[in-house]
Amino acid sequence: MYCKNCGQQIDDLAVVCVHCGVSTDMGNKFCKNCGAPVSDPNAAICTNCGCAFVKPVNPTDQKSKLVAGLLGIFLGGLGIHNFYLGFTKRALVQLLVSLLTCGFGAPIMQIWGLIEGIFYLIGKYNVDANGNPLSE
Ligand SMILES: [Zn+2]
Ligand SMILES: [Zn+2]
Repeated sequence: MYCKNCGQQIDDLAVVCVHCGVSTDMGNKFCKNCGAPVSDPNAAICTNCGCAFVKPVNPTDQKSKLVAGLLGIFLGGLGIHNFYLGFTKRALVQLLVSLLTCGFGAPIMQIWGLIEGIFYLIGKYNVDANGNPLSE
């Protein structure tokens, strides 16, 4: 692999770059897979080799499967579980349809949210909007 900080080739098992001394988890200047410079630090994939940049999951950012499931089951019609997980567009659809149809859409949105909530609880859906895996 390549150091994400200095772009030098390093041992696949190295935890610290022998060239610049930075942890191999750190840095976003070079592609870990091919060593190409990364022009956009927010890019999701390498424009050179196409590999996905895996962002380390911050444990405090990790969303809970149980919370997502319960929010979906009880408040799914308002899209609260999708707000929680970062699926803002889907959440807004559920919220606005529930509110703006004078109650006609609310039962449908509630069923939609209920099904999504169950899917989170049984693990059929298991990532948030950023692709981070949900905690148990
Ligand atoms: Zn380095
Ligand atoms: Zn690459």
